[in-house]
Formats: sequence, structure tokens, C-alpha cells
Amino acid sequence: MVKQALKPNLNRIGALCRPNSTPLELESIRCCICDLDDAEPLAVGEDFEYRTSPDTFLAVQCRHCGLVYLNPRPVVAELDRIYPPDYHAYEFSAERYGFVYRVRQKLEAKRLLSVCKGLGKHAKIIDVGCGDGFHLNLLRQFGPKGWQLEGIDPSDRAVTAGTRNGLRIHKGTVQDLDLPRASYDIALMIATIEHVDDPVGVLKAVRSLLKPGGKIVIVTDNTQNLDFQWSKTRHWGGYHFPRHWNLFNPQTIGAIARKTHLEVDSLTTIVSPVNWVYSIRNRLVDWQAPRWLIKQFSLNSTLSLGIFTLFDMTQQWMGRGALIRAVLRRPYEN
Ligand SMILES: [Zn+2]
Repeated sequence: MVKQALKPNLNRIGALCRPNSTPLELESIRCCICDLDDAEPLAVGEDFEYRTSPDTFLAVQCRHCGLVYLNPRPVVAELDRIYPPDYHAYEFSAERYGFVYRVRQKLEAKRLLSVCKGLGKHAKIIDVGCGDGFHLNLLRQFGPKGWQLEGIDPSDRAVTAGTRNGLRIHKGTVQDLDLPRASYDIALMIATIEHVDDPVGVLKAVRSLLKPGGKIVIVTDNTQNLDFQWSKTRHWGGYHFPRHWNLFNPQTIGAIARKTHLEVDSLTTIVSPVNWVYSIRNRLVDWQAPRWLIKQFSLNSTLSLGIFTLFDMTQQWMGRGALIRAVLRRPYEN
């Protein structure tokens, strides 16, 4: 999972040369919040970044709750194909991303420590969909030494990368793993919820792992942002076709919290330039712009990241930053 300003993305220009001509197997689904199939078409797009298939994808918006979701979407058996070996969440390293990696590392460490404020010296923290362990590494590096850090990820590549870094990573999904219930203080879901096939099932499973009063920190793309408004019919970076399956705004995060019996501790937005940069990049790819120009819009481009950070700060000022950060709490009484 991209995990992104919060989500690392990258220079995926090489992927443009790797078209795969076999269509993916797709399935139709319903809104995961309403359990209804009553949505209007919103966007048509392709895998602009990795070209893992020749398919055209449709994003729809639920008429009842406003959730944006991919429908139809690839079946779970296609995951290995839509997350190719060079997928960024497995390869976000200082060597590959240099300056951007270091800036992001500092920013993320500050954000993470602020949501973990008040935890005891021996708190248990689990990162659900931990990718290569980027956030766990930050907590290990900048947090108290006694914190017990664990991660969950279904991908072999993620588990190998995390374990190589000396992290404790459980391979599988939170619903399938038999982890100790009511034992964790905080669960991180940073750039995770938009990737999973069953957000409600995942939140319920994560909730059962938390101590009463324990918290889930969700960071995900925000559809209540000007970038989405400008690019929502095709090029919005947050679609990340076909890997982002559910896309939220503050209202739908509140709705899924209610559905999964979690309390909203805080619900804010944060600044990120990443989707802005990819919205431009996707347009340029679509218009077959020259490569030198496309290259100016990637996670390696400090200029475009800088400009869109400033741009998103104006959105953040209105409470509509590019990412949602929700802290949900397991109630004490159940
Ligand atoms: Zn709905």
C-alpha cells in the first residue's frame, strides 16, 4: 500500500513500456457501507502508472453515502498482477528516493509521534498493511525503546523487506491471522483502507485486536479536495487505477466508523502533494506527452512536490487537505 506524503509513489516511467495485453478478471460489488448497488458513474480510467493490464476501469459514487469505489474491480486472485514487483510500497528507500525520502521520513516521524503521544513505555503498536515497514522503522528509530512494534502484510515481498530490517511482520490479513485480542494500544492503517477488499471486515478485525480505549489511525486519500473536484472524471491521482478500491471523505469515514462500532476521536485532513502530482502526470501520460515532461511529475521531482505542497496547504487551510487522518477508538464498554 502506498503508503504516501503519506503515500510514497515514484518514477514509474519504466512501467509505460510494459503493457500486458491480457484483461484482468473483474467482479461487481456493492457499496461496503450501505450494502447497496445504487451508484452513479464518476470516472473512467486506466492503469496509468504501471500498465499492468489493458483494461478500462470505472469508479462510481454511492448515491446514499457518497463513497467512491471501483466497480467492477479485479478479483483478489489478480493481486499479484496489479501489484508488480517494482511497486513503490516495497521499494521506498533512501537509495532510490534520496532527498524526498529524508524529508518524508522527518515529516512522517513527527506525524506518527503526535498520534502516539501519551502511550506507555511498553505500548503495543501494530501496523496493518505495513508494506516494507517504513512507519515501523520510524517508530523504532524515534520512539521509546520499549514499544513493541509489529506489522501485518499479505505480500511476500513486504514481509521479506520488513524482516530483513529486523521487524516483526506477520504474513497474512488481519482477518485470517490469529493475533492476541484486546492487546494492542494502537493500530496504524496508513494508506491501507483504500486497498483492501473488505474495509468493514478489516476494521472489525482490527477493533478486536485493540484494548478497550485503543485507537486506529487511518490515513487515506480525501475525495473532499479540490484536486479530486478538478480531476475526478479520469485523471485524479487518488484513483491509482486499479489498486484503490474504496475512496473516502470525512463523512464516509464517520459512516464506516459507526458501522463498525468505533468512536471518532479526531477527524482532520493533512497536506500531501502526491495525488496532485499524479493527477498532472496521468493527464500527460494520457496525452502521450514527451517523457522529459512526464518525468517532471513524480516523487523524484522536488519542484513539483514543493509547488503542490504549497497548493495543498491552501486546501488544508479550508479543512480540505489531500489526505484524511482519522483516529478511531474502540469504546471502553465493549
Ligand atoms: Zn453507500
